[in-house]
Amino acid sequence: PQGLEGPLAEVLGWADEIRRLGVRTNADTPKDASIARGFGAEGIGLTRTEHMFFQEDRIFAMRQMITSSTLEQRKKALSKLLPMQEDDFYGIFKAMEGYPVTIRLLDPPLHEFLPKEDEDIRDLAKEMGMGYDELKATIEELHEFNPMMGFRGCRLAVVYPEIAEMQTRAIIGAAIKLVKEGMNVIPEIMIPLIIELEELKYVKAIIVKAADEMIREAGVDLVYKVGTMIEVPRAALTADEIAREAEFFSFGTNDLTQMTFGFSRDDYGKFVGHYLEKGILPTDPFQKLDRVGVGQLVKMGTEKGRSTRPDLKVGICGEHGGEPSSVEFCHLVGLNYVSCSPYRVPIARLAAAQAVIKNR
Ligand code: PEP
Ligand code: MG
Repeated sequence: PQGLEGPLAEVLGWADEIRRLGVRTNADTPKDASIARGFGAEGIGLTRTEHMFFQEDRIFAMRQMITSSTLEQRKKALSKLLPMQEDDFYGIFKAMEGYPVTIRLLDPPLHEFLPKEDEDIRDLAKEMGMGYDELKATIEELHEFNPMMGFRGCRLAVVYPEIAEMQTRAIIGAAIKLVKEGMNVIPEIMIPLIIELEELKYVKAIIVKAADEMIREAGVDLVYKVGTMIEVPRAALTADEIAREAEFFSFGTNDLTQMTFGFSRDDYGKFVGHYLEKGILPTDPFQKLDRVGVGQLVKMGTEKGRSTRPDLKVGICGEHGGEPSSVEFCHLVGLNYVSCSPYRVPIARLAAAQAVIKNR
């Protein structure tokens, strides 16, 4: 990776000597991972795998999968996606040079993947050996009035365990290849939108079964972790139970803010300006961590999680991860790391050091 040079690199070097928080990046491609490494990221805190499916050939296989009515059809679509995903993860692990990489299982708002154009529906129907009207009816059945609170995150893995299994096989398959090439790999598999211990147990069992089987067959030394996003208030409220099964937590403050305030993360721009102008809210809660609301949930979730598992690793991967006052809050609460977009990594390194100096 192209590193930073000159006085900035020197200042950031001083910051690194002072800061306690780790700084990771959110990256979905080897290119972003490599840019972030150049800026000093010490791992990936979030790879959003749904972002890997928007290319033409992939979105087609994805559409096949979500509109399939039989397990056999779904498995056919998944077998096309598996080698593509394995390549993706191979590239990302390699770019991260042995630092931990947190890969999140699929978390799509389903509607973003459904075909809308008649031509696309016709093509898909043909491929799947379905009539146009039959497929159109299936798509209508999948329609949701509130997709962001609907059939997304781990709910997909609960209904279609084969998706979580495919992604696990791709992650562990890529890691095994690299281990055989002599590289150190630290995969962390993260489950999105968890609300409940039993739900986590169910999805984790799918992951562990596939991963352990592959590692045993390959006969390699590979340690992986399974953890969870904490991004629904109920997960923060029950974090002591969830920590029984989660090997790490990562707070998703985008969804946590949406669900704590009841503000749609996609539509809140229509009214939030008035809240700021009229002094009802001091800051935009999606831009700065709301310390008395969402921040309290982060603090409580961390404390509860660590009451069960004292060495629980906790991070944050929402957009706040690179915002200086939010980074300071994460430092005060005792998080292990923040994860932000590649270009915010230097800011987060500085902010993490400043947090130490300010609160000495
Ligand atoms: C979040 O909800 O904060 C998060 C990191 O996940 P996403 O933005 O992908 O929903
Ligand atoms: Mg989220």
